[in-house]
Amino acid sequence: MDISVVIPLFNEEESLPELTDWIRRVMLENGFEYEIILVDDGSSDSSWRVIQGLKESHPEIIAVKFRRNYGKSAALNVGFNAAEGDVVITMDADLQDSPDEIPALYAAIRNGADLVSGWKAKRYDPLTKTIPTKLFNAATRKMSGIHNLHDFNCGLKAYRKDVVKSIEVYGEMHRYIPVLAKWAGFTKIQEQVVKHYPRKYGTTKFGAGRFVKGFLDLVSIFFVGKFGKRPMHFFGAIGVISFLIGFFITLYLIFDKLMSIAHGTAYRNVTEQPLFYLSLVAILIGTQLFLTGFIAELVSRNSTDRNKYHIEEVI
Ligand code: UDP
Ligand code: MG
Repeated sequence: MDISVVIPLFNEEESLPELTDWIRRVMLENGFEYEIILVDDGSSDSSWRVIQGLKESHPEIIAVKFRRNYGKSAALNVGFNAAEGDVVITMDADLQDSPDEIPALYAAIRNGADLVSGWKAKRYDPLTKTIPTKLFNAATRKMSGIHNLHDFNCGLKAYRKDVVKSIEVYGEMHRYIPVLAKWAGFTKIQEQVVKHYPRKYGTTKFGAGRFVKGFLDLVSIFFVGKFGKRPMHFFGAIGVISFLIGFFITLYLIFDKLMSIAHGTAYRNVTEQPLFYLSLVAILIGTQLFLTGFIAELVSRNSTDRNKYHIEEVI
């Protein structure tokens, strides 16, 4: 099997026949042996019925139906697990990505790349989406150290099979798959300019909330990347520093008091010392942060619910 095309979809009934026909045309023209993996992410329209109909004329389709909407990341993850092709290509279902790009993406992987990410150099999306996206990409480039990508979240990407088998896409991580790949040790990450079309049918499945979620993910991937294996190192270290500051202030206060007693000079009651309150706060915050780190450590060792999605049907 040369290529697995993985397509997550949520209420895309109008696009599917055109999309699958287009993919078939490109594959036949190039003589590729392929499969199309459609993951229905809990559509409430007739997407699943359309897929059942398509299966009759497209035996190369494998389709998975989620019990409800679990998000694009979960859908991609299921597709990645199922994929058997040497090269795995992901694509959105809404005809914004062009199957005509498949041969060039395939060739780039064959020539040694681990991951080739599409770059929608000329985009057909509103400014309210493209401007925040530019900022996200700049921040992600900085934090991940992957400096050659302009468009981390492009739905059109190609992977060497090992890459998709080595990563776990969960939560909202579909925006940062190149970062996950880099962490897994796949560093040959390339970019390729791809065509982009306006959405032909239906509307975008992500509202304005995407930017809030995207930002939280960015912070969390940074955190996980730096401290994921040891959250204790982050919270714990600050906690210990804070605790030590409080501890040494207390020592100083005790020393100061003893000196006053020894010299028979007047000394202020401890509650009149501003430093006393500072030490109290530092010790309390230090203890709290240390415990937070401890809990984060326990949670990170037990995060087994990343892949809790339920499959209703497979064809
Ligand atoms: N999608 C999905 N689950 C979701 C939301 C979206 O599988 O919860 C799919 C959607 O059907 C499409 C792709 O993810 O195939 C990209 O979504 P969309 O086109 O709405 O995003 P945009 O192009 O606006 O970034
Ligand atoms: Mg789209």
